[in-house]
Amino acid sequence: MYTPPGALSAEAAEIVTIGDELNRGEIVDTNSSWIAERLTAIGLHVRWRSSTTDDVVDMEAALRQAAGRARVVVCSGGLGPTDDDRTVDVMAAILGVAAGVDEGHQARMVARFAERSFLGSPPKDGGAAGPVSMTPNNLRQVRVPSGAEVLPNRAGLAPGFRVALRDSALFFVPGVPREMKRIFEEEIAPRLRALCGDGRATAKRTWRVAGMGESHVDHQLRGLLDGIAGATLHFRIAYPENLVTVVVRRPAREEAEAVITALDSAVRARLGGAVYGIDDETLATVIGRRLRARGETVATAESCTGGLCGDLLTDVPGSSDYFLGGVIAYANPQKESLLGVRRETLERHGAVSEACVREMAEGVRRTVGATFGVAISGIAGPGGGSAEKPVGLVHFAVAGPSGIEARKLVWPSREGDPDGRRMVKQLAAFAALNLLEKLLAPPGSDRVSSTPREEGPRR
Ligand code: ATP
Ligand code: MG
Repeated sequence: MYTPPGALSAEAAEIVTIGDELNRGEIVDTNSSWIAERLTAIGLHVRWRSSTTDDVVDMEAALRQAAGRARVVVCSGGLGPTDDDRTVDVMAAILGVAAGVDEGHQARMVARFAERSFLGSPPKDGGAAGPVSMTPNNLRQVRVPSGAEVLPNRAGLAPGFRVALRDSALFFVPGVPREMKRIFEEEIAPRLRALCGDGRATAKRTWRVAGMGESHVDHQLRGLLDGIAGATLHFRIAYPENLVTVVVRRPAREEAEAVITALDSAVRARLGGAVYGIDDETLATVIGRRLRARGETVATAESCTGGLCGDLLTDVPGSSDYFLGGVIAYANPQKESLLGVRRETLERHGAVSEACVREMAEGVRRTVGATFGVAISGIAGPGGGSAEKPVGLVHFAVAGPSGIEARKLVWPSREGDPDGRRMVKQLAAFAALNLLEKLLAPPGSDRVSSTPREEGPRR
């Protein structure tokens, strides 16, 4: 049922992103979706998102409109040093104040420039790199409207800030995603929680599903939320996995969270062993946690994935505790010389075969001296396929203390799909990590019981 908005609702929020490049389609507005997710988690209702050019007239209109209809406005972009960065001036003009330098950020900027060097300047006395000099416009970047509350930027030079306009609180952050996120988490989120109280809370959980197609996930979860008020179910493909999210809105946070907690076992039971983690967990973080707890290690032997599996494993901070290294053996002679794959195996079965990945996995495990060896060999395409071994066929294996587990998957090629090659590589690396994660799952866990012989969605 549609309820027309009356007075400014206490929960209403708006996100304004600034920049010509956004509206020309040159960059994707990921800031907006990231901020929307965070605001929602805090319990705000993001009712509008808008993107404006760097033009001062457009910016002023967007900011005035946002302040006129939302209680909380978060605005990103245009806080840099260049002439097209005008957010501070526009907001100061709307408020009828001047813009002034924030001395704390100015001092930091001066110190940073003294120690910086672009592209490695020639070494000076003592081998130190030469400093980069400041230009007058750098100071533009450390200004805020007079009277604004400064929100320290620990990831960059330009301060964020907060001002009030009519009934709205407006928060400003730089456009650079890394800086925006840091200021939001450290400065804005705590202030918003104080501002919104625990009024109406949103709780959310995402279950990460491996090796089950979206329609199957949907089918298995039919009726999950029947009889549960204020809860919604969402599906999203984050190739090659599927994400299932439940959002619950309740008057109190504990109540919303209790609903989510109660749903957890139901979701896992309905999806069999396919749930490997929740929220921000990845296969690599789960694997890392398990290996660390067991005091064990892993090494990789990759062909068609070209190191992607090692890349995923090393995305996790601290992975050097358990990831010892990897070999990219792309050509056959290197599979022999670096991994000890037998020439006879390659001649009889080919490089894309169960026999080959078994020897690769065991070879890297032995050579590197790791508890587990993970191996992948496949045909990423678009060429190189045959009737017997089509494009998209990938063999993978994990060698460990109790033997070698091998699997294969097929990701059917789609004629002319420019992403096909990348998708085969991504699925292959993901499937190999999925197999390793299952082998590491604690005894009795649902992840162990339902290991299919073949991995991967087929669509
Ligand atoms: P800078 O000091 O880099 O100029 P700024 O606050 O002025 O910071 P912008 O100039 O608007 O920010 O953007 C800087 C860069 O940050 C852009 O080139 C773009 O790569 C990225 N960026 C800006 N806005 C967004 C956005 N909404 N979503 C994702 N990336 C963005
Ligand atoms: Mg800029």
